[in-house]
Amino acid sequence: MDFNYNFVYEKIDFLDKFLTPKQILNLKTLRIFSLFDLLYYFPRIYEDRSSFKKISELNFDEYTNVEATLLSVVQLSSRFGKKLVKATVSDGTGSMEIIWFGMPYLKNTLKVGSKYIFFGQIKKGILYQIVNPDFKISSSSTVMNNKILPIYSLNKNFKQFLFRNLIKKILSNLIDVFEENIPEEIIKKYNIMPRKLALKEIHFPTSSKNIEEAKRRFAIEELLILEMGILKNKFNLINNPEKSYSLENKKDIVKNFISSLPFTLTNAQKNVISEIYKEISQGKIVNRLIQGDVGSGKTIIAVIMLVYMYENSFQGALMAPTEILAFQHYNNIKKYFSNLNINIELFTSSVKGKKRKEILENIKNGNTNIIIGTHSLIEENVEFNKLGLIIIDEQHKFGVNQRNKLREKGFIGNLLVMSATPIPRSLALTIYGDLDLSVVDELPPGRTSIKTKWIANDSDLKKMYEFIEKKIGEGNQAYFVAPLIEESEKILLKSVDNLYKEISKHFKNLRIGIIHGKMKQKEKDEIMLNFKEKKFDILVATTVIEVGIDIPNSTIITIFNAERFGLSALHQLRGRVGRGHKQSYCFLISKTKNENSIKRLSVMEKTTDGFKIAEEDLKLRNAGEIFGFKQSGLSDLKFIDIISDIKTIKMAHDECLNYLKINNGIIKNKYLEFDINKKFENFNKIK
Ligand code: ADP
Ligand code: MG
Repeated sequence: MDFNYNFVYEKIDFLDKFLTPKQILNLKTLRIFSLFDLLYYFPRIYEDRSSFKKISELNFDEYTNVEATLLSVVQLSSRFGKKLVKATVSDGTGSMEIIWFGMPYLKNTLKVGSKYIFFGQIKKGILYQIVNPDFKISSSSTVMNNKILPIYSLNKNFKQFLFRNLIKKILSNLIDVFEENIPEEIIKKYNIMPRKLALKEIHFPTSSKNIEEAKRRFAIEELLILEMGILKNKFNLINNPEKSYSLENKKDIVKNFISSLPFTLTNAQKNVISEIYKEISQGKIVNRLIQGDVGSGKTIIAVIMLVYMYENSFQGALMAPTEILAFQHYNNIKKYFSNLNINIELFTSSVKGKKRKEILENIKNGNTNIIIGTHSLIEENVEFNKLGLIIIDEQHKFGVNQRNKLREKGFIGNLLVMSATPIPRSLALTIYGDLDLSVVDELPPGRTSIKTKWIANDSDLKKMYEFIEKKIGEGNQAYFVAPLIEESEKILLKSVDNLYKEISKHFKNLRIGIIHGKMKQKEKDEIMLNFKEKKFDILVATTVIEVGIDIPNSTIITIFNAERFGLSALHQLRGRVGRGHKQSYCFLISKTKNENSIKRLSVMEKTTDGFKIAEEDLKLRNAGEIFGFKQSGLSDLKFIDIISDIKTIKMAHDECLNYLKINNGIIKNKYLEFDINKKFENFNKIK
């Protein structure tokens, strides 16, 4: 490379010219490992040395200057025997105390009756106090060193002034390494502060306006690296001439298929379907996220598209996150296809031996038209004949990499991903920036909203059991979900078993099934089928039923230790009921006193709208924890608040699209390109 830009990401050990080995070691305790980490370790707040306050206007903890007259000065010993000098000062609006430790000589040098300027953090005593202030005598010509100083989040290894000096040193020696990584035209168009200036200003601001400008710059920089990286991949994918295709756009079979369905499609479903038809019939590469709340009927959209591809001589694949769900899809679709001559196969890790070989062979030679499966579809040895459409159900359970791996197998890279975890548009743009967005914003008719109740005491619990018994007597079925215990499968088993025993005690005359992740696939499939065919009244389960399961006659779900679940998991679990016409119920059992858990449970009680829940979730958690955001590998946005910075996110998104179009998918700013590669190199490692 003809520039030193790679120093930006170099380990700080190479800074030994400027820093002592001890300092380098200490920096690592602040998780500062590279030059980038160091100069992008921004102040938490600032001391504004240019501000002056009257004593009557002071607030605790703020940093400010006070100009006041010295009324008295005494030398004292503190309770712990430390010597201190204490002055009382007044500015006419009130009086306060100034305290110095370890400077006994001040007793004789400070002049009662003179005016001083004191700078420091306002603390609470009997009066306001400043301890060990910066100070000087006031005269018409003196102004305190009129500066805004950075305050960093540090640990015991660093004092503020030492860290400041360290940053100052590195800034003055190495600032030139930090080349401008925002394309010039974008800098100009949005009047963005240049990078080197912004780095100086964020650490040692010359005005509070400049702090804001610098912050804005770094937010935009961060977004551009992210969005440009994501969108570049999309651009190259869509414009890859090797993957161009055309198809006849035949629609007879698919139309017949739609009219044979036991229901009419909702308008939302129709709209999404015609959006996709349009793209495919024009030979465009489909790259679309279908977002819709639980139960909005996304599966049938997938099925219709698979039939359409079949009619136009392409294979289709549907990948689900769990074997249970894959099996359910397979069974339903097979039923839908009973009058059609479509060959459909199920492919999971439980398919073994001869059968496995046979299926692989049939996928390869094209005998199989539609293949439903799990992660197994990504495996090396799965080869398709003419794969024209890939559908991924429950997108949030898969990482971007898995998505792309499957896609590489495609004859054409058409991809639909379906997510039942609705997220606000701004977030979708950031996480799924490479996907176009369709929203199924309507539920099939006749759905009654699910009644949700948080059960916090034993007498309510007792009533709940009675209520459920009555409802089951009327022909309903119920799920009981065992608390989630992370990591320890052994305990997990025990907890489902315990719940099973408890439930059996409460419902002596009912038929109760149990399902959990450690069972053999065959066993699980059998149990789900039996439950669907009403051979059980109750299913005791772990979160293996969290996504996708569709058994409309099951109208009650009871979730134990509900406080252990995040909002999106609770919403997903609750989505197992309310899938038919009957009134459905969700009981959340929890004795939690934790404030955040209480908030989550009340959100669940108040609303069933997935989009609202997602927004609440955003408020209660940090974005990194949300909705497979971690899987996206992009959870480390530092300078962007995904909720409040929607405008900036949208701007970055549009500008990136525009830039790629103009530059034909090539990032001309080589520093930006370097940053993108760096970011995505790490993120591609995440599997
Ligand atoms: P999700 O969007 O959560 O994946 P599903 O696709 O599983 O939802 O659909 C939920 C239920 O709604 C299924 O039982 C399905 O058959 C039914 N359904 C789908 N579309 C319609 C419709 N237009 N009218 C009536 N019921 C429908
Ligand atoms: Mg679904």
